[in-house]
Amino acid sequence: MSDASSELEITARTQIRRKPDRGHYDLATIRAILDEAFLCHVSVDLGSGPVIIPMAFGRVDDDIYLHGAAGNALLRAIARGSDLCVAVTLTDGLVLARSAFHHSMNYRSVVVFGTGVQVDDVDEKRRAVDAIVDHVIAGRSADARPPTDAELRATLVVRIAISEASAKVRTGGPIDDDDDLALPIWGGHIPLRMVADAPIADPDVPPGVAVPPYAIDYRRVSSV
Ligand SMILES: Cc1cc2nc3c(=O)[nH]c(=O)nc-3n(C[C@H](O)[C@H](O)[C@H](O)COP(=O)(O)OP(=O)(O)OC[C@H]3O[C@@H](n4cnc5c(N)ncnc54)[C@H](O)[C@@H]3O)c2cc1C
Repeated sequence: MSDASSELEITARTQIRRKPDRGHYDLATIRAILDEAFLCHVSVDLGSGPVIIPMAFGRVDDDIYLHGAAGNALLRAIARGSDLCVAVTLTDGLVLARSAFHHSMNYRSVVVFGTGVQVDDVDEKRRAVDAIVDHVIAGRSADARPPTDAELRATLVVRIAISEASAKVRTGGPIDDDDDLALPIWGGHIPLRMVADAPIADPDVPPGVAVPPYAIDYRRVSSV
């Protein structure tokens, strides 16, 4: 695993042209965004035009793992070596400018380019599946029944190196035109965060089985 302060090389694909001052290429920023988000959107050309599929994911060091059914078309294309793009987005706020034109959002996002490889090694596959479960809810893989060999065979896992990637971060309030500042229109920003409601036990949970702490107080680990 590279040092967190390492900067990824900027490529023709990852060069941020629009608002480059919001760009980041250090692994610490990229990892923190990936770890706080639990969803990614994966894009692969399946031959019939662009497709983007939302998925869960896990991170181990500087690899992303995706998993799904053995017949999953997108994962099978990745396993065959198709070029791919993964996007991860955290929405941190709504930015209300005086003008409609300057409305915006505060966000932290990551875009990863590359190719993936199919994971066949059983130990790595188990680590990857655990990482995906724990990425969604930290600590859960230690409590859950592990996958059987048959369940693992029915699961396609791919690994994608985080080697060609960019992060983009917007913070703060609106950036209005000077002429608009005196208008009698409220401007500012509304911070957003993800909040979980109280867990609801399945009716078949045997008596005496307590709600685990990670479910009682579910929250994403935030880097801001
Ligand atoms: C929640 C959210 C909402 C947004 N809403 C809009 C919107 O409505 N309209 C709009 O124009 N833009 C929006 N953006 C910004 C958008 O993601 C792009 O950054 C912007 O549109 C510039 O696009 P471009 O193709 O000109 O980028 P370029 O700067 O030309 O992109 C070149 C490369 O920069 C990197 N890059 C670009 N954007 C991002 C990013 N967001 N995160 C990580 N890497 C990136 C990628 O590697 C990309 O290949 C939004 C972003 C977020 C996260």
